[in-house]
Amino acid sequence: MQTIIEPFRIKSVEPIYFNTPAERKIILEKAFYNPFLIHSTDVLIDLLTDSGTSAMSSNQWAGIMQGDESYAGSPSFFRFEKTIQDITGMPLIIPTHQGRAAEKILFSILGSKGKYIVSNTLFDTTRANIEFSGAQGVDLICEAGKHPTVPAPFKGNMDVDALQAFINEKGAENIPLCIITVTNNSGGGQPVSMQNIKAVKQVCTTHKIPLFIDACRFAENAYFIKLREKEYADKSVPEIVRELFSYADGCTMSAKKDAFANIGGFLAMHNKELAQHCRNLLIMTEGFPTYGGLAGRDLEAIAIGLIEVMDEHYLQYRIRSIEYLTNKLMAAGVPVMQPAGGHAVYLVANEFLSHIPVKHYPGQALVGALYLHGGIRSVEIGSLMFGKYDDHANLIPAQLELVRLAIPRRVYTQSHIDYVSEVIIEVFENRNNIKGLQIIEEAPMLRHFTAKLKPIE
Ligand SMILES: *Cc1c(COP(=O)(O)O)cnc(C)c1O
Repeated sequence: MQTIIEPFRIKSVEPIYFNTPAERKIILEKAFYNPFLIHSTDVLIDLLTDSGTSAMSSNQWAGIMQGDESYAGSPSFFRFEKTIQDITGMPLIIPTHQGRAAEKILFSILGSKGKYIVSNTLFDTTRANIEFSGAQGVDLICEAGKHPTVPAPFKGNMDVDALQAFINEKGAENIPLCIITVTNNSGGGQPVSMQNIKAVKQVCTTHKIPLFIDACRFAENAYFIKLREKEYADKSVPEIVRELFSYADGCTMSAKKDAFANIGGFLAMHNKELAQHCRNLLIMTEGFPTYGGLAGRDLEAIAIGLIEVMDEHYLQYRIRSIEYLTNKLMAAGVPVMQPAGGHAVYLVANEFLSHIPVKHYPGQALVGALYLHGGIRSVEIGSLMFGKYDDHANLIPAQLELVRLAIPRRVYTQSHIDYVSEVIIEVFENRNNIKGLQIIEEAPMLRHFTAKLKPIE
Protein backbone atom coordinates (compact mmCIF):
# COMPACT_ATOMS: atom_id res chain seq x y z
CA MET A 1 0.00 0.00 0.00
CA GLN A 2 1.16 3.54 -0.72
CA THR A 3 2.07 5.93 2.08
CA ILE A 4 -0.90 7.73 3.55
CA ILE A 5 0.07 11.37 3.16
CA GLU A 6 -0.92 14.51 5.04
CA PRO A 7 -4.08 15.60 3.18
CA PHE A 8 -3.08 19.27 3.16
CA ARG A 9 -0.21 21.50 2.14
CA ILE A 10 1.28 24.17 4.35
CA LYS A 11 0.60 27.84 3.68
CA SER A 12 1.79 29.42 6.92
CA VAL A 13 4.41 28.14 9.36
CA GLU A 14 5.47 29.02 12.89
CA PRO A 15 8.90 28.35 14.39
CA ILE A 16 9.60 25.75 17.03
CA TYR A 17 12.15 26.38 19.73
CA PHE A 18 15.37 24.50 20.33
CA ASN A 19 17.19 24.23 23.65
CA THR A 20 19.69 21.86 25.24
CA PRO A 21 19.26 19.12 27.85
CA ALA A 22 21.26 21.24 30.31
CA GLU A 23 18.87 24.17 29.80
CA ARG A 24 15.88 21.89 30.10
CA LYS A 25 17.12 20.49 33.40
CA ILE A 26 16.92 23.96 34.93
CA ILE A 27 13.58 24.69 33.28
CA LEU A 28 12.09 21.44 34.62
CA GLU A 29 13.29 22.14 38.15
CA LYS A 30 11.83 25.65 38.02
CA ALA A 31 8.54 24.19 36.79
CA PHE A 32 8.49 21.77 39.76
CA TYR A 33 8.39 18.77 37.43
CA ASN A 34 4.94 19.82 36.21
CA PRO A 35 4.63 20.18 32.41
CA PHE A 36 1.75 22.65 32.83
CA LEU A 37 4.21 25.06 34.46
CA ILE A 38 6.70 24.99 31.55
CA HIS A 39 6.53 27.90 29.09
CA SER A 40 5.60 26.73 25.60
CA THR A 41 8.61 28.56 24.14
CA ASP A 42 10.76 26.13 26.13
CA VAL A 43 9.17 23.14 24.38
CA LEU A 44 10.40 21.57 21.14
CA ILE A 45 7.48 19.26 20.30
CA ASP A 46 4.35 20.04 22.27
CA LEU A 47 2.17 16.98 22.80
CA LEU A 48 0.62 18.22 26.04
CA THR A 49 -2.81 18.23 24.48
CA ASP A 50 -4.73 18.10 21.23
CA SER A 51 -7.09 20.69 22.69
CA GLY A 52 -7.22 24.06 20.97
CA THR A 53 -3.88 23.32 19.30
CA SER A 54 -5.16 22.34 15.85
CA ALA A 55 -4.06 24.13 12.71
CA MET A 56 -7.08 25.86 11.22
CA SER A 57 -7.69 25.61 7.49
CA SER A 58 -7.62 28.54 5.08
CA ASN A 59 -11.41 28.19 4.99
CA GLN A 60 -11.64 28.55 8.73
CA TRP A 61 -9.42 31.63 8.66
CA ALA A 62 -11.67 33.06 5.97
CA GLY A 63 -14.61 32.31 8.28
CA ILE A 64 -12.86 34.23 11.05
CA MET A 65 -13.01 37.34 8.86
CA GLN A 66 -16.68 36.69 8.09
CA GLY A 67 -17.62 36.54 11.75
CA ASP A 68 -20.46 38.90 12.64
CA GLU A 69 -19.89 40.32 16.09
CA SER A 70 -23.43 41.50 16.80
CA TYR A 71 -24.40 40.95 20.42
CA ALA A 72 -27.69 39.24 19.56
CA GLY A 73 -28.92 37.33 16.53
CA SER A 74 -25.62 37.18 14.61
CA PRO A 75 -25.76 35.20 11.33
CA SER A 76 -22.59 33.47 12.57
CA PHE A 77 -24.66 31.95 15.36
CA PHE A 78 -27.34 30.73 12.98
CA ARG A 79 -24.69 29.09 10.80
CA PHE A 80 -23.21 27.45 13.91
CA GLU A 81 -26.65 26.35 15.11
CA LYS A 82 -27.72 24.89 11.76
CA THR A 83 -24.45 22.99 11.30
CA ILE A 84 -24.75 21.34 14.70
CA GLN A 85 -28.45 20.62 14.22
CA ASP A 86 -27.64 18.89 10.93
CA ILE A 87 -24.76 16.87 12.39
CA THR A 88 -26.47 15.79 15.62
CA GLY A 89 -30.16 15.87 14.76
CA MET A 90 -30.65 17.78 18.00
CA PRO A 91 -32.73 20.96 17.79
CA LEU A 92 -31.51 22.98 20.78
CA ILE A 93 -27.95 24.32 20.49
CA ILE A 94 -26.22 26.31 23.21
CA PRO A 95 -22.74 27.75 22.57
CA THR A 96 -20.20 27.85 25.41
CA HIS A 97 -16.63 29.08 25.60
CA GLN A 98 -15.31 25.53 25.92
CA GLY A 99 -16.33 22.00 26.89
CA ARG A 100 -16.08 22.39 30.63
CA ALA A 101 -18.40 25.41 30.57
CA ALA A 102 -21.03 23.15 29.00
CA GLU A 103 -20.33 20.58 31.73
CA LYS A 104 -20.54 23.15 34.49
CA ILE A 105 -23.98 24.28 33.29
CA LEU A 106 -25.30 20.76 32.78
CA PHE A 107 -24.14 19.39 36.10
CA SER A 108 -25.19 22.48 38.07
CA ILE A 109 -28.69 21.50 36.96
CA LEU A 110 -28.53 17.70 37.11
CA GLY A 111 -26.02 17.02 39.86
CA SER A 112 -26.45 17.23 43.63
CA LYS A 113 -25.55 15.30 46.76
CA GLY A 114 -26.73 11.70 46.66
CA LYS A 115 -26.83 11.56 42.85
CA TYR A 116 -24.64 9.46 40.57
CA ILE A 117 -23.55 10.30 37.04
CA VAL A 118 -22.52 7.12 35.22
CA SER A 119 -20.12 6.90 32.29
CA ASN A 120 -17.71 4.68 30.41
CA THR A 121 -14.93 6.96 31.71
CA LEU A 122 -15.39 10.58 32.74
CA PHE A 123 -12.80 13.07 31.55
CA ASP A 124 -11.06 14.99 34.36
CA THR A 125 -12.99 18.27 33.96
CA THR A 126 -16.26 16.34 33.63
CA ARG A 127 -15.61 14.46 36.83
CA ALA A 128 -14.57 17.66 38.60
CA ASN A 129 -17.77 19.45 37.57
CA ILE A 130 -19.87 16.48 38.70
CA GLU A 131 -18.13 16.31 42.05
CA PHE A 132 -18.35 20.08 42.51
CA SER A 133 -22.15 19.76 42.20
CA GLY A 134 -22.10 17.27 45.08
CA ALA A 135 -22.85 14.26 42.87
CA GLN A 136 -20.56 11.28 42.36
CA GLY A 137 -19.06 10.27 39.03
CA VAL A 138 -18.95 6.55 38.30
CA ASP A 139 -16.80 4.94 35.59
CA LEU A 140 -18.17 1.65 34.27
CA ILE A 141 -15.62 0.78 31.59
CA CYS A 142 -15.76 -2.63 29.90
CA GLU A 143 -13.28 -5.31 30.96
CA ALA A 144 -11.13 -4.90 27.82
CA GLY A 145 -10.66 -1.22 28.66
CA LYS A 146 -8.90 -2.13 31.91
CA HIS A 147 -6.00 -3.89 30.20
CA PRO A 148 -3.97 -1.27 28.36
CA THR A 149 -1.60 -3.55 26.49
CA VAL A 150 -4.19 -6.12 25.35
CA PRO A 151 -5.69 -5.06 22.02
CA ALA A 152 -9.45 -5.08 21.37
CA PRO A 153 -11.49 -3.13 18.81
CA PHE A 154 -13.73 -1.10 21.15
CA LYS A 155 -11.99 -0.65 24.47
CA GLY A 156 -13.97 2.50 25.17
CA ASN A 157 -17.23 0.57 25.57
CA MET A 158 -19.29 0.88 28.69
CA ASP A 159 -19.91 -2.30 30.70
CA VAL A 160 -23.63 -2.73 30.11
CA ASP A 161 -24.07 -5.43 32.80
CA ALA A 162 -22.29 -3.23 35.33
CA LEU A 163 -24.58 -0.36 34.35
CA GLN A 164 -27.65 -2.53 34.93
CA ALA A 165 -26.28 -3.74 38.26
CA PHE A 166 -25.44 -0.20 39.33
CA ILE A 167 -28.96 1.01 38.53
CA ASN A 168 -30.43 -1.90 40.51
CA GLU A 169 -28.20 -1.07 43.46
CA LYS A 170 -28.61 2.73 43.61
CA GLY A 171 -32.02 3.22 42.02
CA ALA A 172 -32.69 4.95 38.70
CA GLU A 173 -34.14 7.95 40.57
CA ASN A 174 -30.63 8.70 41.88
CA ILE A 175 -29.02 8.60 38.43
CA PRO A 176 -29.95 11.78 36.58
CA LEU A 177 -27.64 11.12 33.63
CA CYS A 178 -25.52 8.59 31.79
CA ILE A 179 -22.76 10.16 29.67
CA ILE A 180 -20.63 8.25 27.17
CA THR A 181 -17.29 9.78 26.22
CA VAL A 182 -16.37 9.26 22.54
CA THR A 183 -13.60 8.46 22.06
CA ASN A 184 -12.68 7.62 25.62
CA ASN A 185 -9.97 10.21 26.26
CA SER A 186 -8.88 9.19 29.77
CA GLY A 187 -9.12 5.53 28.77
CA GLY A 188 -6.64 5.88 25.93
CA GLY A 189 -8.59 7.52 23.11
CA GLN A 190 -10.28 4.18 22.54
CA PRO A 191 -13.52 4.10 20.56
CA VAL A 192 -17.01 3.10 21.62
CA SER A 193 -18.95 0.85 19.24
CA MET A 194 -22.36 1.73 17.85
CA GLN A 195 -23.61 -1.55 19.24
CA ASN A 196 -22.51 -0.52 22.73
CA ILE A 197 -24.15 2.89 22.45
CA LYS A 198 -27.37 1.18 21.36
CA ALA A 199 -27.20 -1.29 24.26
CA VAL A 200 -26.55 1.48 26.79
CA LYS A 201 -29.41 3.49 25.31
CA GLN A 202 -31.75 0.54 25.76
CA VAL A 203 -30.91 0.22 29.45
CA CYS A 204 -31.22 3.98 29.92
CA THR A 205 -34.61 4.05 28.18
CA THR A 206 -35.94 1.22 30.35
CA HIS A 207 -35.02 3.20 33.46
CA LYS A 208 -35.86 6.65 32.05
CA ILE A 209 -32.27 7.87 32.47
CA PRO A 210 -31.23 10.43 29.84
CA LEU A 211 -28.18 9.55 27.76
CA PHE A 212 -25.70 12.24 26.74
CA ILE A 213 -22.59 11.94 24.60
CA ASP A 214 -19.37 13.71 25.54
CA ALA A 215 -18.76 14.31 21.85
CA CYS A 216 -15.28 15.89 21.84
CA ARG A 217 -13.94 13.31 19.34
CA PHE A 218 -17.12 12.23 17.59
CA ALA A 219 -15.54 12.11 14.13
CA GLU A 220 -12.54 10.02 15.20
CA ASN A 221 -14.94 7.63 16.95
CA ALA A 222 -17.17 7.43 13.88
CA TYR A 223 -14.20 6.56 11.70
CA PHE A 224 -13.24 3.70 14.04
CA ILE A 225 -16.82 2.44 13.77
CA LYS A 226 -16.51 2.51 9.99
CA LEU A 227 -13.22 0.57 10.15
CA ARG A 228 -14.16 -1.94 12.81
CA GLU A 229 -17.91 -2.54 12.82
CA LYS A 230 -18.78 -4.51 9.69
CA GLU A 231 -22.25 -3.14 9.01
CA TYR A 232 -20.85 0.41 8.88
CA ALA A 233 -18.04 -0.21 6.38
CA ASP A 234 -20.04 1.26 3.50
CA LYS A 235 -21.65 4.11 5.41
CA SER A 236 -20.28 7.64 5.17
CA VAL A 237 -18.83 9.25 8.29
CA PRO A 238 -21.64 11.87 8.48
CA GLU A 239 -24.19 9.02 8.33
CA ILE A 240 -22.44 7.17 11.14
CA VAL A 241 -22.19 10.37 13.17
CA ARG A 242 -25.89 11.07 12.69
CA GLU A 243 -26.83 7.58 13.84
CA LEU A 244 -24.52 7.81 16.84
CA PHE A 245 -26.18 11.03 18.01
CA SER A 246 -29.65 9.64 17.29
CA TYR A 247 -29.36 7.43 20.39
CA ALA A 248 -28.59 10.38 22.65
CA ASP A 249 -30.79 12.90 24.40
CA GLY A 250 -28.06 15.48 24.27
CA CYS A 251 -24.35 16.10 24.09
CA THR A 252 -21.53 18.23 25.45
CA MET A 253 -18.69 19.18 23.14
CA SER A 254 -15.35 20.89 23.24
CA ALA A 255 -14.80 22.49 19.84
CA LYS A 256 -11.10 22.58 20.73
CA LYS A 257 -10.94 18.91 19.67
CA ASP A 258 -12.88 17.62 16.65
CA ALA A 259 -13.79 21.08 15.35
CA PHE A 260 -10.20 22.29 14.78
CA ALA A 261 -11.02 25.48 16.70
CA ASN A 262 -8.73 27.22 19.15
CA ILE A 263 -11.61 27.85 21.55
CA GLY A 264 -15.27 26.95 21.87
CA GLY A 265 -17.80 24.34 22.83
CA PHE A 266 -21.50 23.67 23.02
CA LEU A 267 -24.41 21.83 24.52
CA ALA A 268 -27.01 20.27 22.24
CA MET A 269 -30.21 18.54 23.32
CA HIS A 270 -33.83 17.67 22.66
CA ASN A 271 -35.43 18.57 25.99
CA LYS A 272 -36.85 22.11 25.91
CA GLU A 273 -37.19 22.47 29.65
CA LEU A 274 -33.59 21.44 30.27
CA ALA A 275 -32.37 23.76 27.49
CA GLN A 276 -34.26 26.68 29.03
CA HIS A 277 -32.64 25.96 32.37
CA CYS A 278 -29.21 25.76 30.69
CA ARG A 279 -29.72 29.06 28.86
CA ASN A 280 -30.65 30.80 32.10
CA LEU A 281 -27.35 29.73 33.62
CA LEU A 282 -25.53 30.50 30.37
CA ILE A 283 -26.62 34.13 30.48
CA MET A 284 -25.23 34.46 33.99
CA THR A 285 -21.75 33.11 33.31
CA GLU A 286 -21.11 32.74 29.57
CA GLY A 287 -23.22 35.28 27.71
CA PHE A 288 -26.32 35.73 25.61
CA PRO A 289 -27.58 32.47 24.01
CA THR A 290 -26.51 33.48 20.49
CA TYR A 291 -22.84 33.73 21.40
CA GLY A 292 -22.35 32.01 24.78
CA GLY A 293 -18.86 33.14 25.68
CA LEU A 294 -17.57 33.13 22.09
CA ALA A 295 -16.92 35.75 19.45
CA GLY A 296 -18.89 35.57 16.20
CA ARG A 297 -15.66 34.62 14.43
CA ASP A 298 -15.22 31.60 16.71
CA LEU A 299 -18.72 30.41 15.85
CA GLU A 300 -17.77 30.56 12.16
CA ALA A 301 -14.51 28.68 12.65
CA ILE A 302 -16.30 25.95 14.60
CA ALA A 303 -19.10 25.56 12.06
CA ILE A 304 -16.55 25.12 9.27
CA GLY A 305 -14.29 22.83 11.31
CA LEU A 306 -17.14 20.49 12.24
CA ILE A 307 -17.70 19.75 8.56
CA GLU A 308 -14.00 19.47 7.67
CA VAL A 309 -13.34 16.97 10.45
CA MET A 310 -15.69 14.41 8.88
CA ASP A 311 -13.63 14.25 5.67
CA GLU A 312 -12.46 10.67 5.28
CA HIS A 313 -9.05 11.54 3.81
CA TYR A 314 -8.42 13.60 6.90
CA LEU A 315 -9.66 10.90 9.26
CA GLN A 316 -7.64 8.19 7.52
CA TYR A 317 -4.47 10.29 7.87
CA ARG A 318 -5.35 11.22 11.45
CA ILE A 319 -5.95 7.68 12.70
CA ARG A 320 -2.98 6.34 10.71
CA SER A 321 -0.55 8.89 12.14
CA ILE A 322 -1.35 7.78 15.71
CA GLU A 323 -1.02 4.14 14.69
CA TYR A 324 2.32 4.87 12.98
CA LEU A 325 3.88 6.17 16.19
CA THR A 326 2.32 3.40 18.27
CA ASN A 327 3.72 0.73 15.92
CA LYS A 328 7.24 2.18 16.01
CA LEU A 329 7.23 2.12 19.80
CA MET A 330 5.79 -1.39 19.98
CA ALA A 331 8.50 -2.66 17.64
CA ALA A 332 11.10 -1.35 20.12
CA GLY A 333 9.40 -3.09 23.05
CA VAL A 334 8.07 0.11 24.64
CA PRO A 335 4.89 -0.62 26.64
CA VAL A 336 2.12 1.31 24.90
CA MET A 337 -1.62 1.13 24.97
CA GLN A 338 -2.94 -1.15 22.25
CA PRO A 339 -4.39 -0.76 19.80
CA ALA A 340 -3.60 2.86 18.94
CA GLY A 341 -6.30 5.31 19.98
CA GLY A 342 -7.68 8.20 17.98
CA HIS A 343 -5.81 11.28 19.12
CA ALA A 344 -2.88 10.21 21.24
CA VAL A 345 -0.30 7.59 22.01
CA TYR A 346 -0.33 6.37 25.58
CA LEU A 347 2.74 4.97 27.29
CA VAL A 348 2.02 2.51 30.09
CA ALA A 349 4.11 4.25 32.72
CA ASN A 350 4.00 1.65 35.49
CA GLU A 351 5.44 -0.92 33.07
CA PHE A 352 7.85 1.53 31.40
CA LEU A 353 9.21 2.51 34.84
CA SER A 354 8.44 -0.68 36.73
CA HIS A 355 11.11 0.20 39.32
CA ILE A 356 9.10 3.26 40.49
CA PRO A 357 6.17 2.49 42.82
CA VAL A 358 2.82 4.06 41.95
CA LYS A 359 2.96 6.31 45.03
CA HIS A 360 6.02 7.96 43.49
CA TYR A 361 4.12 8.81 40.30
CA PRO A 362 5.93 6.89 37.54
CA GLY A 363 3.82 8.68 34.92
CA GLN A 364 4.91 12.13 36.04
CA ALA A 365 8.52 10.92 36.27
CA LEU A 366 8.31 9.73 32.67
CA VAL A 367 6.83 13.06 31.54
CA GLY A 368 9.88 14.77 33.05
CA ALA A 369 12.30 12.34 31.40
CA LEU A 370 10.82 12.87 27.91
CA TYR A 371 11.11 16.61 28.33
CA LEU A 372 14.67 16.46 29.62
CA HIS A 373 15.89 14.13 26.92
CA GLY A 374 14.10 15.50 23.87
CA GLY A 375 12.15 18.64 24.71
CA ILE A 376 8.87 16.76 24.26
CA ARG A 377 5.96 17.83 26.42
CA SER A 378 3.44 15.14 27.40
CA VAL A 379 0.99 14.68 30.26
CA GLU A 380 0.45 12.12 32.99
CA ILE A 381 -2.96 10.46 33.04
CA GLY A 382 -2.64 8.39 36.17
CA SER A 383 -2.51 8.80 39.89
CA LEU A 384 -1.39 12.43 39.84
CA MET A 385 -4.45 13.30 37.76
CA PHE A 386 -6.96 10.90 39.28
CA GLY A 387 -5.45 9.68 42.57
CA LYS A 388 -7.29 10.28 45.84
CA TYR A 389 -6.34 9.92 49.48
CA ASP A 390 -7.93 7.62 52.03
CA ASP A 391 -8.61 8.69 55.63
CA HIS A 392 -4.99 7.94 56.55
CA ALA A 393 -3.62 10.09 53.72
CA ASN A 394 -2.52 7.04 51.74
CA LEU A 395 -2.76 7.36 47.97
CA ILE A 396 -5.67 5.51 46.35
CA PRO A 397 -4.19 5.05 42.87
CA ALA A 398 -5.94 5.58 39.55
CA GLN A 399 -7.01 2.58 37.49
CA LEU A 400 -4.20 3.11 34.96
CA GLU A 401 -0.80 4.84 35.01
CA LEU A 402 -0.47 6.37 31.56
CA VAL A 403 1.52 9.10 29.87
CA ARG A 404 -0.36 10.68 27.01
CA LEU A 405 1.32 12.10 23.92
CA ALA A 406 -1.58 13.93 22.30
CA ILE A 407 -1.08 14.76 18.66
CA PRO A 408 -2.39 18.21 17.64
CA ARG A 409 -4.51 18.04 14.48
CA ARG A 410 -2.77 18.95 11.19
CA VAL A 411 0.25 20.44 13.01
CA TYR A 412 3.22 18.06 13.02
CA THR A 413 4.61 16.15 10.05
CA GLN A 414 5.94 12.62 9.82
CA SER A 415 9.53 13.67 10.60
CA HIS A 416 8.40 15.31 13.84
CA ILE A 417 6.73 12.04 14.76
CA ASP A 418 9.85 10.06 13.82
CA TYR A 419 11.87 12.28 16.15
CA VAL A 420 9.35 11.68 18.96
CA SER A 421 9.68 7.93 18.56
CA GLU A 422 13.48 8.16 18.67
CA VAL A 423 13.40 10.15 21.91
CA ILE A 424 10.96 7.78 23.60
CA ILE A 425 12.99 4.73 22.60
CA GLU A 426 16.23 6.32 23.90
CA VAL A 427 14.54 7.16 27.20
CA PHE A 428 13.24 3.58 27.38
CA GLU A 429 16.75 2.20 26.91
CA ASN A 430 17.98 4.33 29.83
CA ARG A 431 14.87 4.02 31.99
CA ASN A 432 16.61 2.65 35.08
CA ASN A 433 18.19 6.04 35.80
CA ILE A 434 14.81 7.76 36.16
CA LYS A 435 13.71 8.58 39.71
CA GLY A 436 10.22 8.82 41.21
CA LEU A 437 8.63 12.06 42.44
CA GLN A 438 6.81 13.32 45.49
CA ILE A 439 4.26 16.11 45.74
CA ILE A 440 5.25 19.18 47.71
CA GLU A 441 2.18 21.32 46.98
CA GLU A 442 -1.27 20.52 45.55
CA ALA A 443 -4.79 21.89 45.10
CA PRO A 444 -7.86 19.99 46.34
CA MET A 445 -9.30 19.56 42.80
CA LEU A 446 -7.69 19.02 39.39
CA ARG A 447 -4.39 19.04 41.21
CA HIS A 448 -2.32 17.95 38.22
CA PHE A 449 -2.63 21.39 36.64
CA THR A 450 -0.81 23.19 39.45
CA ALA A 451 0.88 20.56 41.64
CA LYS A 452 4.53 21.06 42.52
CA LEU A 453 6.78 18.01 42.78
CA LYS A 454 10.36 17.06 43.49
CA PRO A 455 12.47 13.97 42.82
CA ILE A 456 12.90 11.30 45.48
CA GLU A 457 16.59 11.00 46.19
C1 LIG B 1 -11.21 18.34 26.48
C2 LIG B 1 -12.31 17.50 26.98
C3 LIG B 1 -13.33 18.04 27.77
C4 LIG B 1 -13.33 19.47 28.25
O1 LIG B 1 -13.28 20.40 27.23
P1 LIG B 1 -12.49 21.80 27.38
O2 LIG B 1 -12.77 22.49 26.10
O3 LIG B 1 -11.06 21.48 27.60
O4 LIG B 1 -13.08 22.51 28.55
C5 LIG B 1 -14.34 17.19 28.15
N1 LIG B 1 -14.36 15.89 27.80
C6 LIG B 1 -13.39 15.34 27.04
C7 LIG B 1 -13.47 13.90 26.66
C8 LIG B 1 -12.33 16.11 26.61
O5 LIG B 1 -11.37 15.55 25.88
